[in-house]
Amino acid sequence: MSDRTDDLREKIKRSLGDPPEIEFPSGWTLSQSWTRAQTEDAVIAPVNPIEYRIRLGEGDLHRTEFYIYGGRLRASCNCAARGNWCAHIARLYLRWTRHDLVVTDLDTARSHRSPPVWIRFEDHDMTQPVATDGGSDDV
Ligand SMILES: [Zn+2]
Repeated sequence: MSDRTDDLREKIKRSLGDPPEIEFPSGWTLSQSWTRAQTEDAVIAPVNPIEYRIRLGEGDLHRTEFYIYGGRLRASCNCAARGNWCAHIARLYLRWTRHDLVVTDLDTARSHRSPPVWIRFEDHDMTQPVATDGGSDDV
């Protein structure tokens, strides 16, 4: 466990309130943020194990935090209100699901190259009933 990760975890513990969880707004797959995340060129530079500087297309450079804490995926960006979904968070999430981002779990100091199976998302779309669960259809 690195000292750096310990420091970051302690800093978050001491801060007021719980850090914002990633929130997928209703219809997020149709959102402009998601479209931008998939189509615009991005420059992504890690600042520390939980923070990145991101520029999308011709946009401004933003500071985006993206990490696991308390068993939840936490994300915030200085372009949006606390906890709001934005194209920068969307881009990091997109890269993570493509195994192209290393996300730090501050609880264990482990790194995850893709979303671990145990992670829980507050995802409106994902809570919709699925057409089939591979077994019985009388769910
Ligand atoms: Zn942003």
